[in-house]
Amino acid sequence: MVRTIIKDTPNKIGEVVTLNGWVHSRRDHGKIIFLDLRDRSGLVQVVGDQILDPLKPESVVEITGLVKARPEKLINPHLTTGSIEIEAQSATLISPAKDLPLPIDSDGYDIDESVRLKYRYLDLRRPRLQNNLRLRSQLANLIRQHLIKQDFVEIETPILTKTTPEGARDFLVPSRLQPGNFYALPQSPQQYKQLLMVAGMERYFQFARCFRDEDPRHDRAYGEFTQLDIELSFVTQEDILQLTEELFTTTIQQLFPHKHISKSPWPRLSHAQAVKEYGSDKPDLRQDKNNPDELSFAWVLDFPLFTQQSDSDFYHGSGSAKFAPSHHMFTAPHPEDIKLLDSDPQKVRGLQHDLVLNGYEVGGGSIRIHQPEIQQKIFQLIGFTPQQQAQFEHLLTAFTYGVPPHGGIAPGLDRLLMAILGEPSLRETIAFPASGSGLTAVVNAPSPATTEQLEELHLAITQPKKK
Ligand code: ASP
Repeated sequence: MVRTIIKDTPNKIGEVVTLNGWVHSRRDHGKIIFLDLRDRSGLVQVVGDQILDPLKPESVVEITGLVKARPEKLINPHLTTGSIEIEAQSATLISPAKDLPLPIDSDGYDIDESVRLKYRYLDLRRPRLQNNLRLRSQLANLIRQHLIKQDFVEIETPILTKTTPEGARDFLVPSRLQPGNFYALPQSPQQYKQLLMVAGMERYFQFARCFRDEDPRHDRAYGEFTQLDIELSFVTQEDILQLTEELFTTTIQQLFPHKHISKSPWPRLSHAQAVKEYGSDKPDLRQDKNNPDELSFAWVLDFPLFTQQSDSDFYHGSGSAKFAPSHHMFTAPHPEDIKLLDSDPQKVRGLQHDLVLNGYEVGGGSIRIHQPEIQQKIFQLIGFTPQQQAQFEHLLTAFTYGVPPHGGIAPGLDRLLMAILGEPSLRETIAFPASGSGLTAVVNAPSPATTEQLEELHLAITQPKKK
């Protein structure tokens, strides 16, 4: 018999249907057994006698039964199928379930996270996470449609690549074919998207996986995350801000009609103003911080191009340089401040824009440098050695073949969804996130390589130095 999806059962009163799914809960009332059956579309109550007895919670079953309208006083208004129930005629246990190692009928926040991640495939059965993953997919879909309508092209860029620094440590992948050489996983597709502008694509986007070996923090995912990477040619910073504002206003209205964006157009603050007035470069401008449906976007602009370099900075090269880029080293200086690059670099403002939502930085971008000589000057100011500069030779070369002025932005998809939903952690918006200590969900990577693998890669493991 053809399978009926649970949400369609209320339209089939009087018909015999076959349902497939999981036993969500079970209540035994003497000889009568009530089950809530769950599939991807929701829950429905099934009532029957001993034929339901072998069906334990979370086992996978097939039930055939008659759809019956419930008497008025037994209608359950909390269930979309609450006006009917299924009178079971036959039941098959397709695959039994052991007792689960964690409850899945709660929101799950108070369960030890290591247990949730070890059994993530069960944790994901809870309705809150089911819903988060569905919303994530729908949000990505709406964004994609919106951008494609505006003539953007979705383009994938390599994962095995060379360093694209965003201020974090790279993940390295050893090359078998070229022993002793390594790929770096991209911290972002920054250089490729700029090269796509040289290639004449003009409007690019991608849901890009980015990899950064940073110490975990609660509002960051360890290791990898997804950002909506965007780049456009022949644009001003104003164009990028407007495009982003329109993109998220439209998609959020479509997907979250009960949420409201407090101020439109989104407030714009200079970096100095944000720090002075709110003590933060990601101020939370909500009028009512207890209102879960208020979304307060803001732009933070006019960042200093450089910050003071710290010892842990990726950028320290010759040791004599004092500066690190506030955003990344491809960000253009404000045209009025270019002359200060030689005399007073710390006063130079960058054409950087940070997107803030409810106190979270949900994205950043900039107008890029497209003049090789300015890019070279920035390399010098951040203290790059000639070897470090050589790693970016391809970009400088590309810029000698007709480069359009360009700029972009990259809002984090996990971050954005976390802030929209008011979730306490990014991990609540990712199917299989890594734990705070960097172990991946379920499969527990990283793990040792075999001797054969190491030999093939010409690698030897040395003991970590004692601290
Ligand atoms: N590549 C930047 C980042 O990952 C975003 C951008 O400048 O467009 O933060």
